[in-house]
Amino acid sequence: MKSDCLQRFIFDNAAIRGEWVSLQESWQEVLNRRDYPVAIRRVLGEMMGAAALLTETVKISGRLVLQIRSEGPVSLLMVECTSKHTLRAFAQWDGDAEIADDAGLQTMTGQGTMAITIEVEGAKKPYQGVVSVHGDSIAETLETYFAHSEQLATKIWLYANDHNVAGLFLQQLPSDESAKHAAEEDWSRVSQLAATITDDELLTLEVETLLHRLFHEEQVRLFEPTALQFACTCSRERVAETISMLGQQEAEDILDAEGGIEVACEFCNEHYHFDKVDVAEIFSETIPTEGDHPDTLH
Ligand SMILES: [Zn+2]
Repeated sequence: MKSDCLQRFIFDNAAIRGEWVSLQESWQEVLNRRDYPVAIRRVLGEMMGAAALLTETVKISGRLVLQIRSEGPVSLLMVECTSKHTLRAFAQWDGDAEIADDAGLQTMTGQGTMAITIEVEGAKKPYQGVVSVHGDSIAETLETYFAHSEQLATKIWLYANDHNVAGLFLQQLPSDESAKHAAEEDWSRVSQLAATITDDELLTLEVETLLHRLFHEEQVRLFEPTALQFACTCSRERVAETISMLGQQEAEDILDAEGGIEVACEFCNEHYHFDKVDVAEIFSETIPTEGDHPDTLH
């Protein structure tokens, strides 16, 4: 079965667009890096599928970040998908809290809020949309977000287990006033057909088979797949930049207290170590000396 890819589709006889996503290796890359409780794995996987679906929807050059922050036992769930089709994800939770295997999103995140941030390359300010966690699922929360923010009817199905993530997305396209009635009928018919999907079908069927099974009386046009993969953008240089932003005094205080500065990337769990010599180098580099080009100092 095709995996780690996303496929868009449209209906020739209805103003509706769709997407299907399947993740396997990229999802394993996330799971291999931290030992998450079962319930967190499920939600984080669903968010990863959702981020991939949404990134394709907005068609940006840049990155889309989905995050849920809360006061509950799971304080942060974060997924990033870039327009280069790379994904990364992590969650933070209270290690002392008992998180039941079947704990739902509400239980884990209390009165959580989901933020959808879109950073477009070259744009000064990112776009950010915010929605409270609705129902007990990532899909329902996003459907509510689309209904409020874009006023476009949207249906999302997401499923994640320890091996795979799968998702299906349907959205009504904007239509003229004169075509509104027909568009509503189309949406009602197509979304009802899609609602017959089972988790098992979503997870195990090839996209062609799945679309045929759901929409065999419709004319569906499936586009070429887009490959997705796990990638982290952290680097020693970026960590050095962060240390330089702390300021020399604070960095030296940490050095004195800890003997070194340890930084672990939340996304990929890569550990970076900076000793006294490394830290001295960071701060000697931030003071331009004669002959240096300031733009090479970043
Ligand atoms: Zn990293």
